[in-house]
Amino acid sequence: AVAVGRRARSRRAWGRAVAVLKELEEGCATPTSRLRQVVDAMAVEMHAGLASDGGSKLKMLLTFVDALPDGNETGTYYALDLGATTFRVLKVQLGGKRSMILRHQFEQHPIPADLMTGTSEDLFDFLAMTLRNFVERENDGFQQSDKRKELGLTFSFPVRQLSVSSGILIKWTKGFAIEDAVGKDVAQCLQEALTKSGLDMRVAALVNDTVGTLALGHYHDEDTVVAVIIGTGTNACYIERVDAIIKCQGLLTNSGGMVINMEWGNFWSSHLPRTPYDFALDDESLNRNDQGFEKMISGMYLGDIVRRVLLRIALESDVFGDSAQSLSKPFILRTPLMAAIHEDDSPNLKEVGRILEENLQMPNISLKARRLVVRVCDVITQRAARLAAAGIVGILKKIGRDGSGGVASGRAIGKVRRTVVAIEGGIYANYSTFREYLKEALVEILGEEIVRNVILRAYEDGSGIGAALLAASHSSEW
Ligand code: BGC
Ligand code: MG
Repeated sequence: AVAVGRRARSRRAWGRAVAVLKELEEGCATPTSRLRQVVDAMAVEMHAGLASDGGSKLKMLLTFVDALPDGNETGTYYALDLGATTFRVLKVQLGGKRSMILRHQFEQHPIPADLMTGTSEDLFDFLAMTLRNFVERENDGFQQSDKRKELGLTFSFPVRQLSVSSGILIKWTKGFAIEDAVGKDVAQCLQEALTKSGLDMRVAALVNDTVGTLALGHYHDEDTVVAVIIGTGTNACYIERVDAIIKCQGLLTNSGGMVINMEWGNFWSSHLPRTPYDFALDDESLNRNDQGFEKMISGMYLGDIVRRVLLRIALESDVFGDSAQSLSKPFILRTPLMAAIHEDDSPNLKEVGRILEENLQMPNISLKARRLVVRVCDVITQRAARLAAAGIVGILKKIGRDGSGGVASGRAIGKVRRTVVAIEGGIYANYSTFREYLKEALVEILGEEIVRNVILRAYEDGSGIGAALLAASHSSEW
């Protein structure tokens, strides 16, 4: 009788767990029809953001980058790439005449957590010192000229640019909260710190990471007109015609175009499939009501959405036994772990069991429950990847390269020029299931025919090298 009672209880428990999963699947559903609505909403918001400042949650920021490096750049340039959890210092030697990048060296450093919420002076002093040490190590003193060194600063946060080499921080994202930096010219902050550190170096370009990636992508392949980052945060930039930038009447550039930093992480549309887990995550975040798209897509958040679902399952059923306390710790399930769980191909999900035990203090989780955990990761990743794909198609639609022929007149329906999208970021680079879902959704939305002309090209370190390239093409020597 006891055994029968236990079995019945466990059936009830599974019933609850399965109900939570089912509700999640429904809440996260992204059928093609819905993705198309997101595509349209993205294109509409792009128009609105270009029409007036504050016209949309999409800021559509000017970058003042009106020409991308063409391969004729020569010389040695530096870059400092401040991303999210790490930053990089780089030195790039350019040979000119498309002999391309001769050499590039870099160092990667973690950003000390206290600097992410301290003062801007502390942050920039730290960056300048690290850069100085790097420069001293890299230079043996012989090949050194007295020429002032030039630097590209990749700053992966929303910045209102004043010129290609200056701009004001609008707000922080991705867990940074250095209050006194908001409203300041971040290039100037770095310039002051560099001078203080005794390094004779000029900040020649201030760029978003998307823009750096676009620069490197374009350097390698001139059909590259869009760049997307899917890492700790997410964002996109693309080349726009200046006459389409209505909010900036009279803007003239030699090329007739300018790179626009969309800040798509802040995109919002009622068509996005949002669940109670997303609401709760937003509510408890450092930046409430901000970066809604980013919170459904990027690496900072995916693992934590999964954690929230698992916590609910743990509270409503006993499929995890009574060892799920650690699930109430925010951000304990980081996205790389989530990817490892999701992509476990060991027999009987042994690896999932190990991760749950070692990283989440959840020992002895049954195979059935391990399968459930994998399934939750799958739902969250699939939604993220498909939404990112819809975002990309939204951009293609805005620039008349989605094959619909509607936006840009004169283009035949069903035809599209070869279009390359440069992509960078840890999620895209390291999470193959994410990549596959994204590509699958692109085919679904665009169709086999069109998608053949849309090439996704992954870059590593594009944001940093691209910033050095932009420093070169905007160098005072030119
Ligand atoms: C920032 C963007 C950045 C993206 C990817 C977002 O949180 O707002 O400026 O491009 O992360 O790093
Ligand atoms: Mg980066």
